[in-house]
Amino acid sequence: MKIYNTLSGQKDEFLPQGDEVRMYVCGVTPYDNCHIGHGMSYIIFDVIRRYLQFRGYRVKYVQNITDIDDKIIDRANQLGIPPRELAQKYTNGYFENMDALNIGRADIYPRATEEIPKIIEVIQGLIDKGYAYPAGGSVYFRVRNVADYGKLAHRSLDSMRAAEGAMGSEEKEDPMDFVLWKASKPGEPWWESPWGRGRPGWHIECSAMSLKYLGDTLDIHGGGQDLIFPHHENEIAQSESFTGVKPFVKYWLHNGLVQFGEEKMSKSLGNLITIKEAVDKYGADAIRIFILSSHYRSPLTYSEEGLEAAERGADRLRQAAQGNGKEAKVGGKVDIETYRQRFIEAMDDDFNTAQALATLFDLAREINRANEAGYEPEEARKRLSEMADVLGLALKPTRKLVRPVGIPSAGESGVPTIRQTSGEIGSEEYIENLIRQRNEHRQAKQWQLADDIRAKLDELGIALEDTPKGTVWKHKR
Ligand SMILES: [Zn+2]
Repeated sequence: MKIYNTLSGQKDEFLPQGDEVRMYVCGVTPYDNCHIGHGMSYIIFDVIRRYLQFRGYRVKYVQNITDIDDKIIDRANQLGIPPRELAQKYTNGYFENMDALNIGRADIYPRATEEIPKIIEVIQGLIDKGYAYPAGGSVYFRVRNVADYGKLAHRSLDSMRAAEGAMGSEEKEDPMDFVLWKASKPGEPWWESPWGRGRPGWHIECSAMSLKYLGDTLDIHGGGQDLIFPHHENEIAQSESFTGVKPFVKYWLHNGLVQFGEEKMSKSLGNLITIKEAVDKYGADAIRIFILSSHYRSPLTYSEEGLEAAERGADRLRQAAQGNGKEAKVGGKVDIETYRQRFIEAMDDDFNTAQALATLFDLAREINRANEAGYEPEEARKRLSEMADVLGLALKPTRKLVRPVGIPSAGESGVPTIRQTSGEIGSEEYIENLIRQRNEHRQAKQWQLADDIRAKLDELGIALEDTPKGTVWKHKR
């Protein structure tokens, strides 16, 4: 298995330390609703974890919750509620969102406010070794004492210093030094420490928690590409300076970020597309298919058309996984092993989920073909569901299947019998109803009306074939 490692800048063979993969992913700062960008990152690392398990690894997965932060304090002050209450509310919301997206829970969710003793221990250790210094009730990390600072971002300290410009504060020895412990301002939450009342900085939290729950060296550390610098660079500096053990992380994985296409869209949707809204509208399978159709390291452009197409894709997979309940001979020649090999090959190559999905769609098509030929390919359906599960696709039967996009309401374009269904009936029932209407028009030689229905079905991704035995339909690729 090869994984692209931000640290080495290339695809490296995956060789974990033991049979248990130690995996850490930076978690949320719960001050607002999660948007689709959060969904992308956690879906990707959920799939990576599922795939490692599928390949026989045990995985210990830790994800932190930054439940104390400037953003939390500011928002809580705006709302006139305690920061703790705000953080708890959005932490609950976060778990609801993750469950709704079928994202498996991490093994441990350490919270910053509950890990203060460990954080203080690591800061004190860094001071003792000369890597940190207290100043004005805060503590800063002395970046110039780390010879290889910048190795993850692939930048030199001098170039970073130049870019940083006049960002330095009076208290710091060097503008690049970053805060480990923040002296509390009046009205802010605080904890006692050897340097006075204060609270932890964001970077030190992840070093302290990963050290405590996963040890000196992690196999995988993940996060969005926006975290490479300074957050992850600083985590390396802190952890390796504290433990003296290199590397802190064997494989650094970073996902691309969600982008919003046209200006119009970014204004109306922007980051305001919450996970809840997206799940309500499209369902978790469709959101996952949409996200996994691109490579995880590429930027993803949010698009409603893309999500609608993913919704139709989810429907095709669901149909193949569930079957139609009709009587058929068990069997059918589906070469399951070939599909499984293709799936593994794709995922082994730096988690190429787009290729893996293409394999599932090909298998689904073959299952449906075997089914049309009068077979019930039970084993193939089972394997399809297993591989779909690695991508976190539940493919559960649902009442809300194909949405009646572009279907005229009664009276429009002279098709009197088709009504807007508002998603009340399942796709098969809905499609077959349309086909019945079309056949009635054909028998009445109302060719134009019949063709209108065929065109509408075509828009829905349904292909019709008129055979001597009647009309058969299938989902187009
Ligand atoms: Zn982090």
